[in-house]
Amino acid sequence: MASYPQIDLYIDGRWKRADGQPVINPADESVLGTVSAATRADLDDALAAAEKGFALWRKTAPAKRAQIILKAASLIRERVDEMAVAMTLEQGKPIEQAKLEILRGCDIIEWDATEGLRLYGRVIPSEPGMRHTVLRQPIGPVAAFSPWNFPMSSPARKVAGALSSGCSIILKASEETPAGAVQLVRAFHDAGLPAGVLNLVFGNPAEISEYLIPQSRIRLITFTGSIPVGKHLAEMAGRHMKPAIMELGGHAPVIVCDDVDPATTAATSVTGKSRNAGQVCVAPTRFFVQESIYEPFVNSFAERASQLRIGDGLDPSNQMGPLANSRRIDAMETMVADAKSKGARVLSGGHRIGNRGYFFPLTVLADVPDDARAMYEEPFGPLALVNPVKTVDEAIEKANSLPYGLAAYAFTRSARNADMLADGVEAGNLSINHFVASAAETPFGGVKDSGYGREGGTEGLQCYTVVKNVSHKTA
Ligand code: NAD
Repeated sequence: MASYPQIDLYIDGRWKRADGQPVINPADESVLGTVSAATRADLDDALAAAEKGFALWRKTAPAKRAQIILKAASLIRERVDEMAVAMTLEQGKPIEQAKLEILRGCDIIEWDATEGLRLYGRVIPSEPGMRHTVLRQPIGPVAAFSPWNFPMSSPARKVAGALSSGCSIILKASEETPAGAVQLVRAFHDAGLPAGVLNLVFGNPAEISEYLIPQSRIRLITFTGSIPVGKHLAEMAGRHMKPAIMELGGHAPVIVCDDVDPATTAATSVTGKSRNAGQVCVAPTRFFVQESIYEPFVNSFAERASQLRIGDGLDPSNQMGPLANSRRIDAMETMVADAKSKGARVLSGGHRIGNRGYFFPLTVLADVPDDARAMYEEPFGPLALVNPVKTVDEAIEKANSLPYGLAAYAFTRSARNADMLADGVEAGNLSINHFVASAAETPFGGVKDSGYGREGGTEGLQCYTVVKNVSHKTA
């Protein structure tokens, strides 16, 4: 069997083995290993380590910090093949997508490391004898919670943001896909990161968040995951007056205008929708297509969707792997049955493939009524919901009709349409004529129930800082 790493805790620069739950391979439901679970004493050790690590790291020269962070990224680049195998084993995504995720994680780490050198303050012009200097200082130890769908790049965003701004961090990564975080942390350890600056724990997510968030030593919470859990953690953070970065769910609309080629746009949509088997917070989901190209678009979409090669992600010829866990299979089956019962047409897929491994095909549903569950609940899986619209205005209205506002997409050749969409769509990220919702250098995050705060770009790093105005009377 391809190798899967040992999943230990990492506290104060040392690895620690403990008992815990099994990690399952979603392609065949075999057990890959066991995740070490942190005890209360381990969390106390991590808090003490993060406090000590912050005292040291904030006083480390930014250039030295960047050197260590960049070294970690270069070690990850060297280890990409081995890391990708572990990721495919635990999460299911095709091996090429696993490699791309890891390399994208490196891009993020590298961009943040160098941007950390430019966390400038400013001097405000003031009366003679008075100087107002605005400083941007690292906020302090961070408690970070990362999800199972991007086992490496999601923790990488949080670790890179914290470390590049001079903060220390306790990362609670996913117990279901823990190897990405272990390998990320190992690279920082091998790059010479001082003990205590970065700590990794696993265990019972609710117990860990409820213990860490109220601690006075923790100064910032960052969470990526579902809206209900995000609201719960944000409430806890609010009770203890902690700022938070909440990167929550989405239900991305895709507005397809009648000035584009339906077949080409459908082909791009299959690639966008099948990425990570649709288990992506920015996955394109609700397609609103102008009437004159609706039929050719939806037929081409379904035809190409049914041609996707689906199977174990370790086989490089497969284009879509299994879903990451059985909860997603249950959700897909329930949503498809509900949509069918309300009158939707199933144009491709619709049923689980086999009964070993969590395989579900890319399913294209057409003419889906607004009251079908999938139209208002995030599918977080390979479901594409396609409906006709008369005008771009109508499409924008439908796009904005849900409480989500993370990513949105549009396809048009018209500058006028693009302008209307940029003005009118309620989302943190709008991509026109492509399906990439974020890059290392761009701010990524939501509006409405999709959360607040940003990851990536200058705005992302600034979330890890506090502003202090120093008002100095010099005369
Ligand atoms: P879930 O709501 O049970 O968990 C979502 C994530 O939060 C998981 O990583 C889980 O470990 C963590 N979590 C749960 N309770 C927690 C707590 N009290 N404290 C700290 N962390 C906690 O759902 P799930 O079945 O794991 O995932 C399905 C849903 O989660 C999807 O519908 C999707 O909306 C959402 N999700 C979103 C993202 C994202 O990128 N925004 C990633 C993964 C999952």
